[in-house]
Order: sequence, then structure tokens, then C-alpha cells
Amino acid sequence: MRLSQKRNLALLIFLNLALIISAQQRCSFDEQWLQKKQQPSFQSRINTIEDRIQRQINTQTNLDVRNSYQIPVVFHVLWNTEKENLTDEVIATQLDILNQDFAGQNSDLSLVPNSFRPLIAAANIEFCMASMDPSGEPAVGITRTRTFVDSLSLNQVYYSSGEGQDAWNTQQYLNIWIANLGNNLVGFGSYPGQNIAAEDGVVIDYRVFGLNNHPRLNLGRTLTHEVGHYLGLFHPWGAGLFNSDCDGDDQVVDTPIQSTTYSGQCPDGLATIPQSCGSLDMYMNFMNYTNDACLHMFTKGQQLRMLATLLEMRPSLLNAAACLEVNQPNPQKGVIKIGPNPTSGSLYVSSFLNESSVVRLEVFNLKGQIIYLSQQDEVEQFFSQAINTTSWSTGTYIIRVELGNQTLVRKILKY
Ligand code: ZN
Ligand code: CA
Repeated sequence: MRLSQKRNLALLIFLNLALIISAQQRCSFDEQWLQKKQQPSFQSRINTIEDRIQRQINTQTNLDVRNSYQIPVVFHVLWNTEKENLTDEVIATQLDILNQDFAGQNSDLSLVPNSFRPLIAAANIEFCMASMDPSGEPAVGITRTRTFVDSLSLNQVYYSSGEGQDAWNTQQYLNIWIANLGNNLVGFGSYPGQNIAAEDGVVIDYRVFGLNNHPRLNLGRTLTHEVGHYLGLFHPWGAGLFNSDCDGDDQVVDTPIQSTTYSGQCPDGLATIPQSCGSLDMYMNFMNYTNDACLHMFTKGQQLRMLATLLEMRPSLLNAAACLEVNQPNPQKGVIKIGPNPTSGSLYVSSFLNESSVVRLEVFNLKGQIIYLSQQDEVEQFFSQAINTTSWSTGTYIIRVELGNQTLVRKILKY
């Protein structure tokens, strides 16, 4: 390619990028991805992650799709004007929408065309409002931070030193930052390994959060889409801005390859389903850019990929013990959760109880010496205890949990 052609190509890419940004697309995942791709080690890191996810998908016996998996969520509201300070009710409504969309319980599921109906998934991943803060204290999973700027960039959102709010431990919580992101950005969800830990999570503009007045993104589906990225999903056209040659792929077998984004469109009810790349387009998939009113489903392949990603790349979310009873309609009674493991800070032990119980915790070092002991009598409904491990030397420990007539013994690694 001659230099002038290269320059023209670069200009074309730049103009397209500018067009996309000015059109305020649903999500900035592809732009963020291309930026990160400039780092020399990025692609090999992503390849390693892809291998791990694929291995997890292929060992399907380990993927228990019947179980339900719960992820604690903390919402960070960053506000300057009153209307940006979204109420607890708006946040609760958005959480409901997220859970309905993931569970295949959204009321507009009936609008999925017949040809795609067999692929509809009821993903077994639930989201709860965190009810315990990182230090183990009871909390509502919402923080509120007054900012003193009109709008925030991604770099500002993630840090208390930059008008934003520091994440709660991103190994234990899904962090969702809500802010005025100006006119360039609507939402972004970080793929596992894409961002450093402090910036891992979802960022969303307050104008597309929950049920809202946005002309196209008004039903709370931007969050559903971004959480899809957070759990390892790409757009149907793959990781990149354009797929006009149809060689982009999302690593999910049951989502058809497509070349268009459906940004600003809502093709429900058309006599013929739009096509590209030689197949019908699943324009109603949550990972498309279609208007909220025409987004309805995840597929079974996406469900499997999200679950594999959760178990392989984000397993400590499941041990975080921060989902408490008020937010859980169907707590798994008697299941004792211990985590995170390995740990360097607090170790949380929790369980829902069938009946009033005695709960006794003991931790031993490998010499058999007891280094921690606590006992509570007559615990009702829910038990939760944070054990501070910061003074322990690094190494292996044994924890023994006695809960009513159940006993659980586990190895703990302190690092
Ligand atoms: Zn996206
Ligand atoms: Ca696919």
C-alpha cells in the first residue's frame, strides 16, 4: 500500500470512529478494545483468556446450568446536578430489569421471531444489591459521590482522586458507576482482563440508566448489554469496529455472524428478518446496538460462555458473601460460603439458616494450633462473619465451620 493510500485509510478509520462517537452509540467496548490492543502484550493475554474460557465451556460437566449463581453489585452514583443523583427506586428498578433480562423473564420475549425462539436462554446468573461493604459491615450497595464537573471521562470515574469513586474490591463485587459521561460515551463494560483491577466493571451514563427518557435506549438495556461484556461476551460482529467482510466472530456458536450493528434501529414485526453475511441477523440479541424496545434475548451459547467466564475468570464473585436475604428471593439455605480464597484481607463466612443454630468458627495453622475462634448461639435466618486475616503470615490454614449439625472443613490460602 502506498503512503497516500495508508493516509487515506487512516483518515477513513478516523472519520468513521468520529461518526460513531458523535452518533452516541450504545457502547464504547470496541473503541476501548482497539485502544488496549495498542499494548504489545494485550492480544496474547486475551488469547490465553480465550483458551481458558473455551476449556471451561468444553468441560461442560463442570458447568452446572441448573444452579443459580449470584453476583453482588455495588452502584456508585456520581452526581453534580440533582437529576443525576438517581434515586434508590430507579436503581432497584434497573436491577430488576437486569435480572429479568438475564433470566429470560422479560415481558417482551414473545417478540423474538420464531426462527430464533429455540435459542432463547434463561441464564442462571442473578444480581443482588450488595448488602455488605468490603470491610464486612452491613451496607446498601449504593454509594453517592458529589462531583464538581459537568461530565466525567472514564479515567475520572474510577478514582476518588479524579472526581469519581474508588471501586469496591473488584474481585468480590460487580462495580457499576453511574455518571454524566458527556456526549461521547453511553456505556462501557470491561471484558475480563481488559482493564486493571481498579477499573474493572461497568460504567453507564445516568441518561440511559433504568427506565428513562432517552429516545432509543430507554428501557434499561444498556446495562444488560454492558454486563454481557463484563461476563465475556463480544458484539455479534466480534471485537472490532466493522465487520463488512463478515470475518469477525463473537466466539459463540449459536449467534449468527453479522455485518451491521442495528444502531438506531428497531426491526421487530418486519415481514422478513433482516440478513447479512448469508444468514438471518439476530438483531434482537442484547449484544446488538438495536434500540432497547427491540432487544429481547441472550442465546444458550451466550449463557454458557457467560457462565464459563464467571467460573473461570471471576470465580471470587461467587464466594463474596455479600448478597443478603433482603435481596434474595430464593436463598440457598444451609449452603456455607467461604471466601475469597486465596485471601489477603477479610475472609467472609456466611450461610442462610434453616433454623436457629449455633455457629462456631475455628481456624488452625498447619501445626494444628488454633489461631481464630468465634462462636455465636441462636443465630437466626442468616449468618455472616468477616475474619480479618491481615496479621496472619502467608501460607495455608484450615478453617472449620460448625453450623447446627453441619460441619465444613476447608483449606484457606493467605497471601
Ligand atoms: Zn457493547
Ligand atoms: Ca457467533
